[in-house]
Amino acid sequence: MKPIQMVDLSSQYQRLKAEIDPAIQTVLNQANYINGAPVKQFSKDLASYLSIKHVIPCANGTDALQIALMALDLPEGSEIITPGFSYIAVAEACLLLNLKPVYAEVHPHTFNLNPLEIEKHITTNTKAIVPVHLFGQCADMETIMAIAEKHNLYVIEDNAQSIGAEYTFSDGRTCKSGTIGHLATTSFFPSKNLGCYGDGGAVISNNDALAERVQMIANHGQKVKYIHDAIGVNSRLDTIQAAILGVKLQYLNAFNAERQSVAARYTEAFSGHKHLMPPIVAKNTTHVYHQYTLQTCDMDIEAFRMAMQEKGIPTMIYYPMPIHHQNAYVQNISLPLCESIASHVLSLPIGTDMDDTQVNYIIDSVLNYFAE
Ligand SMILES: *Cc1c(COP(=O)(O)O)cnc(C)c1O
Repeated sequence: MKPIQMVDLSSQYQRLKAEIDPAIQTVLNQANYINGAPVKQFSKDLASYLSIKHVIPCANGTDALQIALMALDLPEGSEIITPGFSYIAVAEACLLLNLKPVYAEVHPHTFNLNPLEIEKHITTNTKAIVPVHLFGQCADMETIMAIAEKHNLYVIEDNAQSIGAEYTFSDGRTCKSGTIGHLATTSFFPSKNLGCYGDGGAVISNNDALAERVQMIANHGQKVKYIHDAIGVNSRLDTIQAAILGVKLQYLNAFNAERQSVAARYTEAFSGHKHLMPPIVAKNTTHVYHQYTLQTCDMDIEAFRMAMQEKGIPTMIYYPMPIHHQNAYVQNISLPLCESIASHVLSLPIGTDMDDTQVNYIIDSVLNYFAE
């Protein structure tokens, strides 16, 4: 059996090698390492895939969040409502910009920002909501947008984990994750559903004025070379990474389908289990399984993880500590759901290029652990 990894990037590369290698070689031959034609082409192709007007590439998903927040030009101390159970990047970008992250409770099943919890955090200083489409399914965007509109707030979707997922509004209109808010951000970190072979990210928007500001900020605050109208950053997607992404974007739907089929096997095997609750997908969204994250009940997670490790099955805890408990971000608040979820989640290996033998072995090993 092929060794099992949390995400197997090398098998995917071997499969795409015949297309990836020449794409990289072309960049080397043309020596257009910075802002070469593949950067513009990939931005156009991704915009067309998402049915969105603007995709502004940048150096990584954390920069994308920072640039998106900078583009809103908010006064210092503005409050940004974001889920308390999530990756750290939103909080980090806020605090670097002297904005105040306000952590809200998440939904107990989807782990996404719970819209019912948003309004109680809104003050006169609240300026934006940053939902994170965690693990691969969309937050309840219709309700979040309605709240934002009512209170005149911006919405930035953190779409780093959910690229390709689809959201359906109650009127039946369907759109891609990351195309609903005023801005969205994404990451092309290698393990993401659309990953390059280094770092990369993008800001996404349908709003011409915001997109123009994003473009300017990502490029040293200049619209015209050597004329600087704002303080910006230097954040670019390398041409080589754009060329790789140009190839991989064509396979994104197929990659996501592969993840979904592994997830379906897991969910079938573990549904109704006494100690493991498979992920629950909300009704308005598809799930592209950036992570396959179970909720555990009444078990010693570390003992389980050790037993799996002995069988060659890696597992991970995404994320073991809510943001308000992190040393650098500590706030004296109580978010019981975020806290409880952080101590009960468990993620299994998922990705493209997993074969049936591996999936069966993982399922059997997990079930046997509890049978013993
Ligand atoms: C990966 C990730 C980021 C950061 O992306 P980088 O490219 O690693 O900077 C931000 N938010 C979420 C939810 C992520 O999963």
